[in-house]
Amino acid sequence: MVAEKAADSTEKNENLISSTRTVVKEALDKLGYPEEVFELLKDSLRMLKVRIPVRMDDGSVKVFTGYRAQHNDSVGPTKGGVRFHPDVTEDDVNALAIWMSLKTGIMDLPYGGAKGGIICDPREMSFRELEALSRGYVRAISQFVGPAQDIPAPDKFTNPQIMAWMMDEYSRLAEQEHPGFITGKPVVLGGSHGRESATAKGVTICIEEAAKKRGFEIEGARIVVQGFGNAGSFLAKFLHEAGAKVVGISDAYGALHDPQGLDVDYLLDRRDSFGTVTTLFKNTITNQELLELDCDILVPAAVQKQITAENAENIKADIIVEAASGPTSAEATKILTERGKLLVPDVLASSGGVTVSYFEWVQNKQGYFWSEEEVEKRLYKVIQKSFETIYHTARTRRVDMRLAAYMVGVRKMAEASRYRGWV
Ligand code: GLU
Repeated sequence: MVAEKAADSTEKNENLISSTRTVVKEALDKLGYPEEVFELLKDSLRMLKVRIPVRMDDGSVKVFTGYRAQHNDSVGPTKGGVRFHPDVTEDDVNALAIWMSLKTGIMDLPYGGAKGGIICDPREMSFRELEALSRGYVRAISQFVGPAQDIPAPDKFTNPQIMAWMMDEYSRLAEQEHPGFITGKPVVLGGSHGRESATAKGVTICIEEAAKKRGFEIEGARIVVQGFGNAGSFLAKFLHEAGAKVVGISDAYGALHDPQGLDVDYLLDRRDSFGTVTTLFKNTITNQELLELDCDILVPAAVQKQITAENAENIKADIIVEAASGPTSAEATKILTERGKLLVPDVLASSGGVTVSYFEWVQNKQGYFWSEEEVEKRLYKVIQKSFETIYHTARTRRVDMRLAAYMVGVRKMAEASRYRGWV
């Protein structure tokens, strides 16, 4: 049983890293870069593995394994979240660091990509244990990171409180305040207004732009959101506020459907901190049924590999906006594109978080803080411009939006690496 599980997860990870590399290679080929550029970019420049001993509440010591990958720092310091999750693997962290390079390239931020992760299940840990783990991780990686070197942030199952502990630990080690060491902090500790909802705001802007391209407005549109975590729940809220009809939502346990529109405020009120809400209802449908619902826009905001060659033919939505990482397989992307669907890829749609992280870092550097309206205005400008660039690239180069996004994402770091004389 154990061996079988390991084999499964190796296969999954090979897929994530290998599918990422395949598109990076395609993008570099389209742009006319030589093979050596791909050789440089196909892997992280640095990968640190750490072991973190934590005294648990029952008195025992548990040793956790964590990683930090820095993909490419030709453009500037590296940037990317730290996830606390039982499924974390070295290969995934490596692939996700490449994704961060793409995202920062797409949004034209002065960073390269990084990613961190710890194999743990925060749902089964106490507050005290989580604090000890967060501080232990920072002690283990402190030589490797820093405000001008590599700047962590929240990711799956990490939050502003965890960022606060990490910032405090780093500042203690450095014997001076270093708010710019990490982003996604609580506002009272130098966090930025709008950071917590930034990913969902970014997705909302992409949905609006995509709808405009198809000639309709968000108001009155029927939207299905798969996932009710940080991104999914804020997203449902923003879409509801914008007058859309959220006709379906889901969590890890099931999905809810109402063709008249769900009571989003009620669902937001009842969800727990890990995004579970469907367990409160009897008339649920499966996640698979949810994806195939009749709607205008489908937003997979949950986990990888949801739309595959098996169900891509059955997707009814005209626009698919990927708020999660890797929800659509390569075959499915092809099928959806052939069917004339507009697919807005993850590396574009989910870049609102890192963009406001950049704003937070800038505010920390200058010691002057912006209002929520200021943050929103700037975020809108950045995402709208990137959406337009990628849409235009897709049209003029006759490629799908995913390949177009990868082309825009790799170009800056390929150029920067070349100017530095690395390739
Ligand atoms: N973890 C988020 C992402 O994957 C945010 C990263 C950041 O803010 O640096 O995009």
